[in-house]
Amino acid sequence: MSFTRKIGKKNGKDLINISDKVFDNVYPTIISEISSNVSVEKQEVLEKFDDKDKKNKLVCNFISAYKTINDIIKGKILSCFEDAISGKLESKAFTNIDKSQCIYELLNSVNIYFVNSEMCGGKTFDKREIPSDIVWSINLDKKELHNKIENEEFDKANERGEVEAVLLGCYKRDTERYFAGEGLKSMNGSVINSFDDVSKHCSIFLWIDHIYETSNNYYNISFEALLTFVLLHELMHLLMDVFDETKFGIKGEENLKCLGQLYGYFREESLANALALHLCDSTGNEALVYSILDHFVQNQTIPYQTGWLYKNLFEKAVKNWMKCKTGKYLTKQLAKEWLLEITEEKPDSNNLRRIEDEIEEILPDK
Ligand SMILES: [Zn+2]
Repeated sequence: MSFTRKIGKKNGKDLINISDKVFDNVYPTIISEISSNVSVEKQEVLEKFDDKDKKNKLVCNFISAYKTINDIIKGKILSCFEDAISGKLESKAFTNIDKSQCIYELLNSVNIYFVNSEMCGGKTFDKREIPSDIVWSINLDKKELHNKIENEEFDKANERGEVEAVLLGCYKRDTERYFAGEGLKSMNGSVINSFDDVSKHCSIFLWIDHIYETSNNYYNISFEALLTFVLLHELMHLLMDVFDETKFGIKGEENLKCLGQLYGYFREESLANALALHLCDSTGNEALVYSILDHFVQNQTIPYQTGWLYKNLFEKAVKNWMKCKTGKYLTKQLAKEWLLEITEEKPDSNNLRRIEDEIEEILPDK
């Protein structure tokens, strides 16, 4: 999930129940197959833009963003995760695929849908449910959250409410993913066993109206840059989703309850952002690099902001997190220490590095 705080006022639109409506022009796209204008032009979200020049420009932005992402994920930039991911995918998927291609193939098999807020509750062309764009998240401010964690009031720290925010993107699989879609109750997480399963069971939704409006609210972020960043963030949830997180837990705590839930959510979102920032930076493209997206990320809530602190530390952190998801248990003390650090007024990346080293120590490789 990716969202940002609201800037400016909400356009007072009530949620209309359109649960049975199928939007025929919400076609799935995948990263490598958006090279022609036609596949974008027909998308229903673009019908809202009457101005022909604006519409043509947006079509170019979509194609350019997809091309950028395709180039990034085709490269070796995520190769440090190849072993972890290829080992978790079923061997049958690899008969024709080089290991070095596994991340590209994985990310290139997920269906991506362009939607807008009016479509929430409806269905896509291929009958997938379009999620709500109402954001349920943690309402407490940094200081309150820090105090609750310090006093071990984890259930209170975990309370979710409807927050003043706009949803930009969402990664889903049909057995709903827990951490990426905070607030969702299903815990029937399943290991993604083959690329085939990815296209059948996983989807990414991008709220194009929200991305467009949000980019207009930041003077130095283009629609294309924000679209690229949000899509990369959602793809990184997929990258980290090859494990069965139902086994995740904290030693001495009930699986996924309270502290574990809080830690898991903050961890997952911060690392999805850290990876997305790293990938943007790897392009060397001025319009995408940290200095620009910094403004955007700093406006997000704590777990997303934390991604910024992990820009030089993401590799170890993602590996540690993936080990936790495969059932390596973290100590309560370290999970709590990490949450306390990131809810400090000014979290210190040196402290995060130290905590990360300690986590690495207690989580064996095998
Ligand atoms: Zn997310």
